[in-house]
Order: sequence, then C-alpha cells, then structure tokens
Amino acid sequence: MSDIHVRLPDGRTLAVPAGSTVLEVAGKIGPRLAKDAVAGRIAGRLVDLRAPVEDGAALEIVTGRDPAAGEVIRHSAEHVMADAVKRLFPAAQIDVGRSDHSEKFQYDFKVERPFTPEDLERIEAEMRRIVAEGAPFTREVVTREQAAALLESLGETLKRARLDDIPAGEPITLFRHGAFVDLCRGPHVQHTGQIGAVKLLDAAGAYWRGDESQPMLQRIYGTAFASQKELDLHLERIEEAKRRDHRRVGVDLELFHIDPIAPGSPFYLPKGMVVYNGLVEFIRSLYPKYGYQEVMAPQLLRAELFKRSGHYDKFHDDMFWFAGADEGEELGVKAMNCPGHCRIFELRKRSYRELPLRFAEFSRLHRNERSGALTGLARVRSMAQDDAHIFCEPEQVESEVNRFFELMSEVYQALGFSGVRIAVSTRPGEFLGEPADWDKAEQTLAEAVRRAGYECGIKTGEGAFYGPKVEVDVDDVLGRAWTLATLQMDVAMPGRFGLRYIGRDGAEHQPAMLHRAVLGSLERFLALYIEHTGGEFPLWLAPVQVVVASITDRQAEYGARVRDALQAAGVRVQLDARNEKLGFKVREAELQKVPIVAVVGDQELQNGTVTPRRRRERGKGAEPVALEAFAEELREAIAARRV
Ligand SMILES: [Zn+2]
Ligand SMILES: [Zn+2]
Repeated sequence: MSDIHVRLPDGRTLAVPAGSTVLEVAGKIGPRLAKDAVAGRIAGRLVDLRAPVEDGAALEIVTGRDPAAGEVIRHSAEHVMADAVKRLFPAAQIDVGRSDHSEKFQYDFKVERPFTPEDLERIEAEMRRIVAEGAPFTREVVTREQAAALLESLGETLKRARLDDIPAGEPITLFRHGAFVDLCRGPHVQHTGQIGAVKLLDAAGAYWRGDESQPMLQRIYGTAFASQKELDLHLERIEEAKRRDHRRVGVDLELFHIDPIAPGSPFYLPKGMVVYNGLVEFIRSLYPKYGYQEVMAPQLLRAELFKRSGHYDKFHDDMFWFAGADEGEELGVKAMNCPGHCRIFELRKRSYRELPLRFAEFSRLHRNERSGALTGLARVRSMAQDDAHIFCEPEQVESEVNRFFELMSEVYQALGFSGVRIAVSTRPGEFLGEPADWDKAEQTLAEAVRRAGYECGIKTGEGAFYGPKVEVDVDDVLGRAWTLATLQMDVAMPGRFGLRYIGRDGAEHQPAMLHRAVLGSLERFLALYIEHTGGEFPLWLAPVQVVVASITDRQAEYGARVRDALQAAGVRVQLDARNEKLGFKVREAELQKVPIVAVVGDQELQNGTVTPRRRRERGKGAEPVALEAFAEELREAIAARRV
C-alpha cells in the first residue's frame, strides 16, 4: 500500500500508510499521545479516532486536556447512560441522545413509568460501573439493511424508525462498547474509562420527535467531564447560576413580573422600569455623537409592507396578524423595525449628501413564540431592541462597521464588560437574494472586522435570511458566551423595496442597508445582565442608589435633609428612619443590592456630614464626608456612568 501525507500542527508532515486511522496516526507521533487521544480535529471539525485520514489532511490530535474533549466525552457518556438504562430496565427502548456545545447531554427512552430521583441514582451508579469496565468503543460501517436487521432483532423500534431519517447515500455507522450498540456518527473516546466523571442532572417527559401527537418519552439530562475536578467546578457553576437566575433575582429585587395572563410579556415593576429606562436613556444619549436620528413607526402595519420586506413569507408564523375594520384589511403587529425604516427612507428622494442615514427606534416588538419555549426575560413574545438601520453608500460600509465598534466599546465599558469575540455569520440554508451578493457582503464584513483590529471568527450558516452579520459575543461571570451586539448587512431589503438615492454621478443607486443593535433585545440583555451582576447594577443604573440610614430618632430630621440634598443632586435615594438597629438597615439595603448606605448619627448631624458605606468597599472602615461634597461626588459619578 502506498503512503499518504498528514500535516501536523507543528508544521511537520508525516507519511503513513493509506487507510490509516486518526488513532494510528497518533500512535506514529507517540505512544503517550495515542493513549491520551479522545478524538481528532480536521479543519476545525472533530473526527472519530477510528475514521481513516485522507491524504493531505491537516490533523490535530485532541486529548482530554483540550476544551473540545468535553464534547466527545459527553457524547460517549450518552451511550454509557443508554447502556446503564438498558441494563437496569431491559424493557426500555432507546430513542436518541443529543449533546450540543453546552455541558449537558441527554437521551430519550420509552419506559413504562417516568424515572424517579432514585432511578437516576441507580442509573448513575451503573454508569460508574460501566466507566470502570473501560470497554473500548468500536466503529462499524454497515449497510442500511444490516442496521435495520440488527435494530429489529434488538426490538428497538424507535431507533429503527430513526434509521429512516438518515439520507440515502450517507454512510451508516454503529458504535459498540461492551454489549451495547447504537446507531451513531461519533466521534467517541477510545474506551469508557476516558469518561472521567459523570453526573445525572434531571429527568423530564418529552414527546417523540417533539410532536405532541406522538407518545411521551422520558428524557434524562446529564453531564460528564474528563476529571472529577472539572465536574465539581461545573456543578459549582450550576449552583451559582441558580442563585443568579434572573427570574429569581427579578422577583427578589422587584424588577419585573412574568404572568401566565400574558405569556412572555414582562410586567415591569417600578424598580425594573428604572433599569429599563436607564439603559434606553444611555443608548439614546449616544445618538448625537454617533449620528443616529430617532424615529417611531406604527405598531400595526398592513400586510403589504411585510410582503414587500419578505417577512410575510419568511417570518409569517412568528408574527401576530389581525383583520382590520376595513374590508379585507390584514394587519401585522410590528415584529421588527426594518420595514418601517425602509418606508421612511423612501418617503422622498434621497441624495448621497444625506447618507449615511441612521434611523434608531426602541418600539415594543411582538413575536408569536409558543408559550412552552418562553423563559423569563431571556425568551419573550414582547421585547424592545436598541435597534437602528443604517442606509449608506456601499463604500461607506466599512466606516460604518468601525463606528459600530466604537459605539459598542463605549456601551460595554459603562456596563462593565471586558473582552469581546467577534465573528461573521454566513449564509443560512434558506435565504433571500443572490449567492454572489452574499459572498461579497460576507467578505466586506470580515475585512472590516479585521481592519478594525479584531480577530474575526466565522459562524457558518448562522446569518439572517436577508444577509450576513457581524456578531459580538461577551462572556458573563459564569463563563457563558452571549451574543449581544449584531450588525447585519441586508442584501435583500433595499432591492425588494426598490430603495434609491442620487449618487455623486447624478444617477440613481441602491443604498447598502445595515441592521444594528448593541444590547440586542433589552429583555434578553436584562436577563444576562441580572445574572452577570447578580442584581448588583452599577451605581448609574441601580434602581435605588443610596439609602440614608439614621442611627436613632434624633437624626430623623437631619436624615430627611440629607435625602432631599441627594435628591436635588439627581440621586435616587430612600430614607430609612425606622426604629431599627443600624446593622439591620444595612443588611436589608445590601440584600436589595443598594450600592451605598449613607449612615447619619449624632456626629454626622453635628458636623453636617454623612458616612457612606459602599458596596464595593465592604469591610473597609468608612470615613465621614461633608454632605455637599458627597452629593457632588455622586452627581458626577452618575453622570459619567462610572462603574
Ligand atoms: Zn454516539
Ligand atoms: Zn432590522
């Protein structure tokens, strides 16, 4: 057999016999590497160790230390879980598992009764036994008939039905470990012993194929890691995430209320409204500097507009539609601002002299999501975006991308986010416009990102249906990535609306159109931000910025004077003059995440001072300051949105 050549990460080229597997290549590099290998990576994709390598491939061996190893480990743990369930409940039928890029995996089973917490403990214990057995995973390529015969002989009717989902022509592979076999593409670790630690998290009912007319299956969720230490760290993070869950914090701090009477549509309570308005006012305050003009289009628009924009076809089921009072009148509830902004653009002739035109809008938007898919503020039916649409000359796109990055940096700094990751999302399966326009737009965006000095990732197929986008991800304190800012290039709408401007040459041209948001939807942003801060908003955004706490009744009057002075300086302040101990008042203010407690006792009364205890300086001795200086300091810090 002739040799093929494999390129290694260090630049070396290795000659191996044709048909060599990833694991065999690893063995050629070194026995230690082969022992630790859990998968291979070719062109950014994880591949199974048992898969043959093609000539010229650039191959990287993934070991347990690689962050991507978790994915392979968790997918392998899925099989181990299914094996454990079959050992303990032989009548159970297996359906399919799923492990996405999160740290969870799941598998669905058809069983006689739902799993109890005790069942999960037994299954987890059985999984540990299987892990300890260390049986190797083997991969077999079979024909469709062979797979069908095997699954039928095992009585796995659900799995047998899943076999028909595999498109004709695609290779069909089985993975075995011990006596357990599953239909699967892989990749898998070498043997069950490489699954260092497992933990089952939860079980819940789930319809087969997510279809309510189908039988209810039982889904088990679990997680797995290369080591117990990593698993413990992960479980700690889950606990912390529960403590910070925005739905819980939102109730504790009286920010908002979600009611079954209006699924996915938050009731903002007074304190939540302060935060909401604080964000809107902040973004709005930047509009003059960045050249935006605020507009407001109607909430109810005739269907014709959405037919022009393409949303009527592509987005129909996600919108609310009404019959108007006029004969045959069909109205859509605004679900996005772009069609309205296109309408404003075309109201009169536009010249290159007024471009770029940047229209911004904070209107409420409504999307018809199924109530089962809604979660707190993170997934809603009613939302507002810090939305804007930029109409510009095609040559201006790059400078608009730069301007967007500047705006974004300024906003994220005031909110205390550091470190962003930027990627361009490319053409999805279903799209409007011409592929050539897409390619060009994707290229323009990626170049602009790089020229702005950022590394540019690629999110393949994740663009909107009307154009590619730049997505900005931030990490929260729990290490979770959130996409916040987006800048989308629209290759469809300007053409569909027939938008034109008179260019420098006196002729008509089609403007480029960009959709941009910095916070994204305010609701989703609030969900993230509450969890990121645990409800400890920066001073400028806190619903109550200062609590004035008197020590005894003697300072009640002075306390009121302090409150009034701070209020006059534009501070959101409350007076706590109750007949309670100071420690109690301070603790209560801390639980409400109030940034500063201004203590007033006899000394403060005598000297005209306050003693501020700041959240950020907990435990440090607080020094009294003159009331006027304190008010001035706060006024200034709030105006500057210092974090
Ligand atoms: Zn598998
Ligand atoms: Zn838009």
